[in-house]
Amino acid sequence: MVLKMKKITVILVIACLLLYLSACGEKEAENDSFKSNVHDDLVEGIKPFYDNGAFASYGDGLLYGQDGLLKVYDFSTKERYVLCGNTNCKHFGNDCAAWFGDNSMGVFGAALYNGKVYYFQKDDKDIKLHSQDVTGEQQKVLYKMDLTDVKVGSYTFVDIVRAIYHNGYVWVEAIYDAIKDKSGNDSVETKVIQGINLETGDRIELSTLPKVVDEDASEYSEIEYIGDGVVIVGNITPLGNNVSREAYILYDIESKSTKEIYKSELISILDEDGNYNGELPELQFFGKYKDKYVCTKYYDENVNGNDGKFDIYLFDTDKKTFELVTDGIDGFPFFENRYSMKSLIDGSKLIYEVSKDDKSEIYYYDLEKNESKLAFTDEKNLKYRLVEETEDKLIFKIYTNVETDSSFNIYTISKEDYLKGKFENKEEFSIK
Ligand SMILES: [Zn+2]
Repeated sequence: MVLKMKKITVILVIACLLLYLSACGEKEAENDSFKSNVHDDLVEGIKPFYDNGAFASYGDGLLYGQDGLLKVYDFSTKERYVLCGNTNCKHFGNDCAAWFGDNSMGVFGAALYNGKVYYFQKDDKDIKLHSQDVTGEQQKVLYKMDLTDVKVGSYTFVDIVRAIYHNGYVWVEAIYDAIKDKSGNDSVETKVIQGINLETGDRIELSTLPKVVDEDASEYSEIEYIGDGVVIVGNITPLGNNVSREAYILYDIESKSTKEIYKSELISILDEDGNYNGELPELQFFGKYKDKYVCTKYYDENVNGNDGKFDIYLFDTDKKTFELVTDGIDGFPFFENRYSMKSLIDGSKLIYEVSKDDKSEIYYYDLEKNESKLAFTDEKNLKYRLVEETEDKLIFKIYTNVETDSSFNIYTISKEDYLKGKFENKEEFSIK
């Protein structure tokens, strides 16, 4: 009898412990849960291609999807939250405001921006942009993009592939197919850049669909850089014979003015046998320092295989001059997520990689002091891949096996420790 009692007690204790643990693991979000959620007015929505945990930073934490729910990890409180404020909710299924398990787009494009949650949802008819507050209240459909019927000789909207939140807008790369025959199977893909105002739902088109739909290779546009109130768009026009031209257009969000800042041919990349193997832009933008844009410029006239080199410049878009920052070192900015991430830490320290035969050296260049310092020596295939910056931390990931496996773990580290290579002070954060 005593033995039986003991058993029941043990079971009760375990049950209580489990209850306690699950209640303790995540908090329901309250409207003032994330006070420090804006630091640079730039958030890239969650990208779809992370198969092991998708996330987006929101200033001082991470937004991520787990078990069909949108959740937040807050670095300052070290708490995890589910983005549903209803304490009676089971947080499962469509009744829950944080639930995305039935959304065919998953968490793609979702972001926590200026204290609100945004996400996209796709069905047979359209893609909708939703907004709600962090507790799941105030739900709104901000914008609806119709998935148009297939019509020969015209464009049909099929998808969006990037979503970056900046200056009160979400900027998307929208994919359209130009349909060439009745079956709808023969089509040419193109891509245009659009901005959706997060207050009014109004749409701005930063590039327009090509007029000719029966080309083999269509014109398309890509987001080159977003930040500091501007969007730089690259408009790529195929010229035939594997040659394309790229015009870089700078769009000022406040004044709604545009100007062409540079134009060049894309660099053809040849394989070892001299065959065409794709193309590279001459310029790539990574940030802004004072009135100039940080970019890499490709050099080496006769590119063979991967022999081309990069240098880092400050580009003056008015005078159209390039000022060499790193002195012929073939350095490349170090961020994996280059578009929305400022490769300038704290706005003035440019982190870059110099590749050696058997290792990579990671430097930072202080644009205020005009000096370069070695931060640490990394493995050849780059172990510590920086992905985001928050106010006082850097977020990086380490792949389990970068050659064969796309799974990775996420770590945070203070900026100071990172720049000194003190990785023993890193903290692991799991969203698996
Ligand atoms: Zn819920």
